[in-house]
Amino acid sequence: MTADLRTLVDTVARRVVDHADELTRLDQAIGDGDHGVNMRRGLEAVLADLDAIAAKPAGDALKQVGTTLVMKVGGASGPLYGTLFSEFGKTLGPEIDATTVAAALAAAIEKVKARGKSETGQKTMLDVLVPVQAVVAAGDLARIRAVAAESAAATVPMKAIRGRASFLGERSIGHMDPGARSSQLIVEAVCDVLE
Ligand code: ADP
Ligand code: MG
Ligand code: MG
Repeated sequence: MTADLRTLVDTVARRVVDHADELTRLDQAIGDGDHGVNMRRGLEAVLADLDAIAAKPAGDALKQVGTTLVMKVGGASGPLYGTLFSEFGKTLGPEIDATTVAAALAAAIEKVKARGKSETGQKTMLDVLVPVQAVVAAGDLARIRAVAAESAAATVPMKAIRGRASFLGERSIGHMDPGARSSQLIVEAVCDVLE
């Protein structure tokens, strides 16, 4: 793995850890109040493994991040983020540019949808990941950050159809989805490193 990828994983993990309390507050409103705790546990484990992760080629490194997230995050989001990173790592070849990243992200998102039996419009992380993949695929890299922010904000008026928030039905309306916000944070951290 290159020094850049090490910085990338480190920055993403720290960003999520630094926002754990905010993620937990969002999950307190429409879930069981553990999204920040879950994500912090998972990404602290990634940080603890950073030397071993950084010793691997990019694809294998991302797969290991995914495996760690599956084992440590728990809840609904652990297997889903684990799938996202693992599949992204599996699909990403040695050539890393906007085209290959868009293709790997598309493949990874399909696996998340299959695992979660979910699609966009259901007030989940997919409501950020799918539009972000679309702007990457369009090569519109300058808009990624704005699209991630707009997409997370757009989950506020949505009614949850998947995950614990769906138990609230109409009462899930008016709150940002915690997983959409964590996805936005991850995307922003990636932009910070690559810009
Ligand atoms: P749990 O709901 O088990 O406590 P977390 O609180 O860690 O797990 O994660 C909740 C987040 O996971 C939600 O905000 C949502 O974005 C995401 N999520 C839950 N179920 C699904 C699903 N079926 N498909 C996609 N994302 C989901
Ligand atoms: Mg929760
Ligand atoms: Mg939970």
